[in-house]
Amino acid sequence: MYYAYKYRLKPSGVHREELDRHRDICRQLYNHTLYRLNEYQDEHGDLPSMTTLRSELPDLKKWWDGLSDVYSKVLQTVVERLFDNLKGLSKLKENGYGVGQLKWKPPREFRSFTYSQSGFKLDKKGGQTVLSLSKLADIPIRLHRAIPDSAKLKQVTLKKEPTGEWFATFGVELDREPPEPPENPENCVGIDVGILKYAHDTDGTAVGSLDLSDERDRLEREQRKLSRKQHGSNNYENQRRRVAECHADLRRKRRDFLHKLSAYYAREYDLVAVEDLYVKRMMESPSNSRNTASAAWRTFLSLLEYKCEREGTHFVAVNPRGTTKECASCGVSSDKPLWVREHSCPACGFEADRDANAAWNILSRGLEDVGVGHSESTSPEISDFWCANESLRDSLTPVETALPADTPVSAKRVVEAGSPICSRRRSRRSHGP
Ligand SMILES: [Zn+2]
Repeated sequence: MYYAYKYRLKPSGVHREELDRHRDICRQLYNHTLYRLNEYQDEHGDLPSMTTLRSELPDLKKWWDGLSDVYSKVLQTVVERLFDNLKGLSKLKENGYGVGQLKWKPPREFRSFTYSQSGFKLDKKGGQTVLSLSKLADIPIRLHRAIPDSAKLKQVTLKKEPTGEWFATFGVELDREPPEPPENPENCVGIDVGILKYAHDTDGTAVGSLDLSDERDRLEREQRKLSRKQHGSNNYENQRRRVAECHADLRRKRRDFLHKLSAYYAREYDLVAVEDLYVKRMMESPSNSRNTASAAWRTFLSLLEYKCEREGTHFVAVNPRGTTKECASCGVSSDKPLWVREHSCPACGFEADRDANAAWNILSRGLEDVGVGHSESTSPEISDFWCANESLRDSLTPVETALPADTPVSAKRVVEAGSPICSRRRSRRSHGP
């Protein structure tokens, strides 16, 4: 599987100039390639292939001063990038979006370039780790977490953030065995990612959403100040950077929270069941005011998925249809408007928090997806597995174990302690054969 590892670079003044110069040559090449693409289309009536435009690079170098200063594989990835963007555009078109044409990139919109396959390596120089880039420089890098020894470095992307900081993101390939179905089905959890509470799981933990109102206030203040500065002045430029830092701060805190929460679930459980967000989004109306929330869900679920793979935890995305309406105890559906926070079943009388009820449904669907309920299975291991799961499922049925005790946890605790539960492996309800 493919992973991304992102690190902060510590470039000197000279390094910065060189990084910026290379970035700008790449940008000009991007714009030139776009120009050639349109020219070719006018002449031939259809689009050139990527190889056609890539094969023009050696000739370009003959008259283009500076183009040879950039490592050749980097130039090739610029051409690839244009074609990637083109592909993205036609995909949008296929899905019925009105799309225009690819545009020329001004400097502030072209922030990165990529070394692919070769031309880069991590090295030690004078007691510090450097990222050695062909035809560019050896730039000090802060490896705040180790890249696994077995990892193959496929590529590195160098990016300048609007704050002026430079980052290196390594594309890394790791060979891992796909995780086995969980042997100990007691360590299973269903998570409902909600709106009011951030996540509600079947162990009764409800994690609140992250309070970033202070950070948002600060951003607004700095933005107001920016609007009073003369556009293009030094003061404006300094203030623009401050606004960019506020944005970066918000983004970092949000991601940090999602990283810690997803790491907790991936580490602590053998099976994690969530709703399939892709299906869920199709069920919701597109003009939904929950766009920010759903962007955070997407990030959370993709972090959770790759962390589960890394930890050998089973990740199951289940069909979300009706998880809030269905009764976790008897399976009867009843309509509930969004503002009704309690689940109270008219058929069997089972009562629970709305999100807790949904989390139970998600877990039982997840267990079903990995094999529970397929009695015709002949493999003894698998049938043992689902037998164990069936007993688990019985004991999970909330009505038999009394109401799940819900522990509301503030998001701050996740950020500070790294997990919603301080002392790990609190006594799980013991059940099993
Ligand atoms: Zn019921």
